[in-house]
Amino acid sequence: MKKKNTKSKNKDVGHIKGCQICGDDIAIVFSLGHQPVTQRYLTEETLHEPETLFPLNLSRCSNCGLLQLDYIVDPEVVFAKDYPYRTGLTKMLIRNFEELAETVHRLYVINNNDLVVDIGSNDGTLLKPFKAKGARVVGVEPTDAAKDANKAGIPTVQAYFDAKSSEKVVKKYGKARFLTATNAFAHINELPALMKAVKNLMDKDSVFISESQYLMDILAKNEFDTIYHEHLRFYSLKPLQKLFEIHGMSLVDAERISAAGGSIRAYAMNGKRPMSERLRKLIKEEEKAGIYDEQTYRKFAEKNITAKNEFLSLLLRLKSEGHKIVGLTSSARSNSLLGFCKIDDKILDYLAEKDGSPKIGLFAPGSHIRVVSESELLKDQPPYLAVLSWHIGDELVEKMKSIGYKGKFIIPLPLAKIIE
Ligand SMILES: [Zn+2]
Repeated sequence: MKKKNTKSKNKDVGHIKGCQICGDDIAIVFSLGHQPVTQRYLTEETLHEPETLFPLNLSRCSNCGLLQLDYIVDPEVVFAKDYPYRTGLTKMLIRNFEELAETVHRLYVINNNDLVVDIGSNDGTLLKPFKAKGARVVGVEPTDAAKDANKAGIPTVQAYFDAKSSEKVVKKYGKARFLTATNAFAHINELPALMKAVKNLMDKDSVFISESQYLMDILAKNEFDTIYHEHLRFYSLKPLQKLFEIHGMSLVDAERISAAGGSIRAYAMNGKRPMSERLRKLIKEEEKAGIYDEQTYRKFAEKNITAKNEFLSLLLRLKSEGHKIVGLTSSARSNSLLGFCKIDDKILDYLAEKDGSPKIGLFAPGSHIRVVSESELLKDQPPYLAVLSWHIGDELVEKMKSIGYKGKFIIPLPLAKIIE
């Protein structure tokens, strides 16, 4: 195979023409049009200013099979300091990280004083169960979530994860026994630089564990709402293998987990190493599901358009019958869903977020729908609640019933339906 330098073809930000892993040509398989950055909420003041839209296209490399965006938005815009998301607000993630620490301990044994470094550590939620197991922990996080982590006793370097910050961590704490990147490994641009920073922290026995949304789940459940500018790559196992191989590492093991609507947890180590049996099996399953066939993506695009039309038709029908509909919750995913389906504040009266969410009082990007607190929603008791975070729909429906919501629920995807 011909070797190409990704960097020579791709700019740091903007439109890219070469695959982020192997540098070969990429082609669009599904377009969500031009969309705003999903966590750029507007205030009463900024509602009066122009809003910037960026191309949002899912593209595919025909060489290594990596699904990826073809437009990279400046990370300073995507992950602004005031980025409102906090991991610790999602119960599903807290449980996932407790399970991760248990699994890592079972597979590799976490010894007292082992160093665990988390890339894109947000408020330190992942590191807490590792710390409880006696490990030394340190996070690297560019947004102000780092301040919350430090306050909570999780040492965190507030910086982008790059050569400089990784060297800083090594100097102060040493090499990592375990290096984690959950929902971050697909978010960082400039893969060669990222891999260099990863390798800075690794010695021969270090294990790099990443969790990323899994292409198999995205395809199976029509999860087009997970396509937004933060997610630069949508991993499957063969492209991951290729990526590690290019950087002198090996993908040694992988497992499917339920986090974030279905994710892949991948384990990689330095040097040439064998694959685990379950990794071999997972790759076979991918091949069987047609994940490396071009026509799979033509079907995916068709299914997404059908899903959009069904959801929008349902909302418009209820609206024309005079019903009030509101959205639950306001997340990156929900903004992507609303953006692609072209749903605005003429259709959903408002979006409800957990009390205390920093988004309350702001307006969702693109749709400009106002965000209010759940308490306000409970007082209002609208007859229909569109569960926009449908990937944790069961948890949300159960919770809303338990706190006294009496109306019906609309689940938007994989195909829109109403549940009592
Ligand atoms: Zn490629």
